Amino acid sequence: MIKVNNSLINAQEVDIAQVPVVSDDGLVLDLEVKKEIFYRLLEAHRLAKVNVKMGNITNRGFATYVCTNKNVWSLGTNFNNSRNDISSVCGERSAILSAYNHALVSYMKNPQNGFDFKIKYLCMSSNIDINEYYDFIVPCEDCLSWLNTNRCFDEDTTIFSFERKDDGILKISSTKLVKLLPYRTLKTSNKFVKNKKINATFGAKNSLIQYNISEKNINDMLLKTYEAYKNNCLTQISGQNIASSILFNNEIMTFEKLDWTKRWFIEPLEHVCAEALIKTKGNLQIKAVCYFGDEYNNSDIKDGVVSVKSLGRIRQKHATGDTLLILNLEDEILVTTIGEYLPKKFVQGYKI
Ligand SMILES: [Zn+2]
Repeated sequence: MIKVNNSLINAQEVDIAQVPVVSDDGLVLDLEVKKEIFYRLLEAHRLAKVNVKMGNITNRGFATYVCTNKNVWSLGTNFNNSRNDISSVCGERSAILSAYNHALVSYMKNPQNGFDFKIKYLCMSSNIDINEYYDFIVPCEDCLSWLNTNRCFDEDTTIFSFERKDDGILKISSTKLVKLLPYRTLKTSNKFVKNKKINATFGAKNSLIQYNISEKNINDMLLKTYEAYKNNCLTQISGQNIASSILFNNEIMTFEKLDWTKRWFIEPLEHVCAEALIKTKGNLQIKAVCYFGDEYNNSDIKDGVVSVKSLGRIRQKHATGDTLLILNLEDEILVTTIGEYLPKKFVQGYKI
């Protein structure tokens, strides 16, 4: 147990015992654990502020303290050193990398202790003044696509953040990481069967009416996506073939995945949306997304088939939580919505 820095807490005029803990699953924190979480969030908050002061180019600072199942804490900030896509690492990924390297070094020195790397807590803070309005921070979709594996995280991995809303009360808010991730038990299939049974979720039923989409529209999208998948010859390097279609203005547009190398590729959903954006001169509202690709079943790494990263990109502006998502499962066509598939709690609103 670390020693709580009282002067830091006094400076914030907070009696930690009185700070409410808000969680969506009735989490109760022991006072010592609560103090530690509070201290880690505060320290991360201070580091996020320093990060902005030192010139992080987005002018937004984020920092995360992660704790592994072995109770090792590691801190990391967002690192944005240029405007290029690959130069950007968020605070939580930065902290996880630090923790991972620490765990590897520990293993190298003492292999008899084994190597079991799982993240227990992610304590996420930003540079926003916690004395003012402060939103609950959760990972962005780039991070969620990175965290969407059971290798380093499990059902118990918990996210903590400060929150201070309209009531002016500073709280510790928490949720389980798994609640922000896509459905993880679906068995997608790469076998196409005509007129497979279509099952729509509650949310999807509303969207089908809202967007006036028929069963024929769904089958047409699936067939077109499947044809692109079947004829795609550009994914021999990775061996992971995927095609994606979108429906907008009564038009279906489709693209398939293209590999540059094993890990560098053009993701079909992002690609097809970019093409549609160009065609509509930026006036794009996507009614439905269809994904057809490699089978996803009970493999060891449950990272799914639909790109969380691309869903995050398109729903900033051109899709909503109501946009339909059509998936080819083993026994049925599942029609759900982006909001149901990827239940992100809020969308970061910062601009570069
Ligand atoms: Zn992120």
